[in-house]
Amino acid sequence: MEKRVLPLPDEAATIALGAALADACRQSCVIYLYGDLGAGKTTLCRGFLRALGYEGNVKSPTYTLVEPYDLTPRTVYHFDLYRLVDAEELEFMGVRDYFDRDALCLVEWPQQGLGILPDADIALSLEYVDTGRRALLESRSDRGARILACLAPGWEHPS
Ligand code: ADP
Ligand code: MG
Repeated sequence: MEKRVLPLPDEAATIALGAALADACRQSCVIYLYGDLGAGKTTLCRGFLRALGYEGNVKSPTYTLVEPYDLTPRTVYHFDLYRLVDAEELEFMGVRDYFDRDALCLVEWPQQGLGILPDADIALSLEYVDTGRRALLESRSDRGARILACLAPGWEHPS
């Protein structure tokens, strides 16, 4: 299992980490994003999507639960389960299909979908440190370990 702790002193660093993860994901993967409100989960997703060529606005799909991004040849599904009342709601929306489609899945508030969401390849937690943040990354599969190995040790955010 791979683990990394990365300092993210400012927003640009969070965006750069998202971009680095996108660059390292060569195939489908599932990334769980943990952290309090405002910790930077959506910011990281923005960096991830931008690196794959998406130039529009990125908002947390709090009410719709999932936002699809068709970035041919990749598809990204950005989940935000903050308002999910019952994990079974995920069954009704056919969540397994999303994870079957060779897509890159980013999931904010995965703890809300426990038992229904597929396992993560990478669990990423964002924590507040002074005015910045810190990212703790942990692989949960061989695929996740390969992705994290691509990221670091060389990965450093531009300062
Ligand atoms: P979440 O999705 O976790 O609720 P958002 O990404 O929507 O959080 O908001 C995070 C806020 O924190 C944004 O205002 C963003 O500019 C800021 N931010 C993101 N990363 C950092 C960082 N590393 N240091 C300081 N501020 C950050
Ligand atoms: Mg968010």
